[in-house]
Amino acid sequence: MPEPILQLHGLDAHYGDFQALYGVDMKVMEGEVLAIIGSNGAGKTTLMRSITGLLSNGPAQIKYRGVDISAQRADEIAVQGLAMVPEGRQLFPSLSVRENLMIGAQVGRKGPWDLDAVYKLFPILEERKDQQSTSLSGGQQQMVAIGRALMANPDLILFDEISLGLAPIIIKDIYEALPGIIGEGMSAIIVEQDISKALSVSSRVYCLQEGRVSLEGASDTVSREDISRAYFGIE
Ligand code: ATP
Repeated sequence: MPEPILQLHGLDAHYGDFQALYGVDMKVMEGEVLAIIGSNGAGKTTLMRSITGLLSNGPAQIKYRGVDISAQRADEIAVQGLAMVPEGRQLFPSLSVRENLMIGAQVGRKGPWDLDAVYKLFPILEERKDQQSTSLSGGQQQMVAIGRALMANPDLILFDEISLGLAPIIIKDIYEALPGIIGEGMSAIIVEQDISKALSVSSRVYCLQEGRVSLEGASDTVSREDISRAYFGIE
């Protein structure tokens, strides 16, 4: 029986007086790919930031492998095998492609992902390894951001809107690489505005609406009507 690798219990999140998440319950099973959809401002990025320790949360709201990580710092969480590909990529502009990738390795976890494995996945990055990351196209920068997260050899990888701002052909390439990226045993959360893409790669989907879970279901059985209602609040 697979165990949840991640469990959220009544997760709230605040920015000052503004509450962005309200009592979110969620679980990711070992080896599962979970999709999170929702319109602009629904709270998807806030959820990712809470899970990875970039936002503080109340006690016992986030459990990773059964351990309460709610109060842990981002670096403490990363060494336990949780990595994020952030929205907007957030590369270090003054560093080369190779140096940006090596940042992920600083977490110090052993596993299948090293520079050679990332270059095999995205050969263009080896060709460009000594260039500054800013000289790359948006799609190539996204590959660096994915490679950097993989270099941490995570057990659970979070992708925050990886197709945002990229050309359809590049999005297709990245999505075709996903099964090889996630591979045997790794679990993933994919935040995505493109609902078809989200459903095609995931086994279950959650929809967020104004900081609350408005839908939870199996990706191959949720109906378009359910999604429209959950996404836009249309009754
Ligand atoms: P998007 O698709 O636009 O990234 P999202 O679903 O990821 O949307 P969040 O970025 O998590 O949504 O934002 C959720 C809510 O929190 C929004 O109302 C947003 O305006 C607010 N918010 C986000 N970041 C901050 C911040 N640093 N300070 C104050 N409010 C914030």
